[in-house]
Amino acid sequence: MPAYPHTMRIGYFGGTFDPPHRGHLALARLAADTFALDRVLFAPTGRQPLKEDAPHAEFADRLAMIRLLCSADPRFEASDIDLPHADGSPNYTIDTLEQIRAQEPAAELFSLVGADSFLALPRWHEPERLLAVAEWIVVSRPDYDLSDLRALALTPEQRTRVHFLTTLDDDTSATEIRVRLRFGVTQADRLTPEVLLYIARMHLYHAS
Ligand code: ATP
Repeated sequence: MPAYPHTMRIGYFGGTFDPPHRGHLALARLAADTFALDRVLFAPTGRQPLKEDAPHAEFADRLAMIRLLCSADPRFEASDIDLPHADGSPNYTIDTLEQIRAQEPAAELFSLVGADSFLALPRWHEPERLLAVAEWIVVSRPDYDLSDLRALALTPEQRTRVHFLTTLDDDTSATEIRVRLRFGVTQADRLTPEVLLYIARMHLYHAS
């Protein structure tokens, strides 16, 4: 045993992942590299409270695609922690983070998000508890301006727990990928080969 055991640094990366794409991979890689994360848990959300439409692909397919995406990096793991609830109620990030915190009480816990998600934080369930239970790694996304955070009204204490990574400039979006797949446009640059093959084999998103 080393004299000073290493504190595990765990990232939680939740999303609809409908489908998971290279933008997700780039975000997680940048966060894991910059903050020396040991593990990043990629967790598809059963029911996202802020998205009006239900996901296009089933949870099982999104989890299967996440497993394929995570094979790209040994630090990345697929997690079913946000599986759909039997009663149809939404999955809240605060519940998930508290569950991970209870399972890994000694770990440093980070929540990974893109700029668009973080700017919507006031609409999330329990924003104050969210900012207290984990540190936040917020990654830039084209068309979302992180310079104006006034609406979030973070306290100085909260501000120390939010870290901004502004070098990513990746315009990949799952919505756009789904539209292109429907029209039969190849997505080799946006999806990993394994995920692309899964989509084709399972005929997801009406891909031809
Ligand atoms: P959709 O276009 O259907 O809304 P999405 O591409 O935003 O989907 P999500 O699964 O909703 O994908 O995103 C999960 C997380 O990844 C969110 O925190 C989102 O902000 C972040 N994210 C997704 N794509 C990017 C990107 N290109 N750059 C930075 N962050 C991203």
